[in-house]
Amino acid sequence: MHAFEYREPRSLEEAYAALAAYGEDARPVAGGTALVLLMRLGLARPGCLVSLRRIAGLGAISAADGVIRLGALVTHRRAERDPLVGTRLPLLTEAYRHVATVRIRNAATVGGGLAHGDPAQDPPAALLALDARVRLSSAAGSRTIPLHDFYRDYYETVLQPGELLTELEVPMPPAGARWGFIKFLPRTADDYGTVTVAVALTLDGTGAHCREARIGLTCVGPTPIRARRAEAVLRGARLTPELLRAAAEEVRNEVQPTSDLRGSAEYKRDMAVLFTRRALEQALAQPAGNPPQDRR
Ligand SMILES: Cc1cc2nc3c(=O)[nH]c(=O)nc-3n(C[C@H](O)[C@H](O)[C@H](O)COP(=O)(O)OP(=O)(O)OC[C@H]3O[C@@H](n4cnc5c(N)ncnc54)[C@H](O)[C@@H]3O)c2cc1C
Repeated sequence: MHAFEYREPRSLEEAYAALAAYGEDARPVAGGTALVLLMRLGLARPGCLVSLRRIAGLGAISAADGVIRLGALVTHRRAERDPLVGTRLPLLTEAYRHVATVRIRNAATVGGGLAHGDPAQDPPAALLALDARVRLSSAAGSRTIPLHDFYRDYYETVLQPGELLTELEVPMPPAGARWGFIKFLPRTADDYGTVTVAVALTLDGTGAHCREARIGLTCVGPTPIRARRAEAVLRGARLTPELLRAAAEEVRNEVQPTSDLRGSAEYKRDMAVLFTRRALEQALAQPAGNPPQDRR
């Protein structure tokens, strides 16, 4: 690996200063699971790594005003095992527990995962379905944006040089909310998905009609996506098997997969339709607010 400077700031202000000193030649590093791999492969050659690990206050999970906040340095494993997340956001628990292996999840952080911008990651599908927001901060100030506005292209986000993702904000789903999550991976259990889909539904009092629907998909295009046409079919409608089928079919024209070792583009399109339908069925088969059964 090439030689580089290494900084360990103790505060966000020190981190901004270190990032500014090296400009575009500096890269923040959190868990290092993605960045160090890229450096080993020679695909990233930063002159300075600015570690976020010693910055106080970026590792908290809290709840207030109907929102759960996860600091950027919360690890995937902690997000997966946290009781507050498990009770109020079981869809998120499910998504994080499907990432890679325990070893990776112990190091990888929620902020690093999102900032990496890899369209094949699992948590963004759930976070999009949950309507999550990200807080981005720099020496110039902070902004909070919906996650669906965060991604630009393959491995590209709206993060500017010198800007850090500091917090993830996830609204708590209302009473009566249901969810489904499927990571379809036909190879090994620790592989990236061929298609990952998450759905969040809010039903009316009778449980027969859909009040609100959000569907997040990953592995099926240059960025994680919301399947908005499928959502529109569901919203306000009576949830029959035919309607679920029709909604899932809309996904066919919303995804833009490419062929790779996990399947042809055509196959992935078919799987996106199939697993969206199954995730919707999973949500409807579930008692409201039910936490995942199969915890590790
Ligand atoms: C073997 C392997 C298998 C994997 N399998 C899966 C899988 O099945 N599903 C899945 O979803 N993911 C998978 N991953 C990806 C894994 O989730 C990411 O590597 C991880 O989330 C990155 O988090 P990190 O904290 O290690 O980020 P880092 O490697 O530290 O950083 C990643 C990028 O984000 C930037 N960055 C880090 N933190 C911040 C911040 N707070 N603000 C701004 N920029 C920041 C860095 O500069 C870098 O560009 C796998 C990774 C590996 C190595």
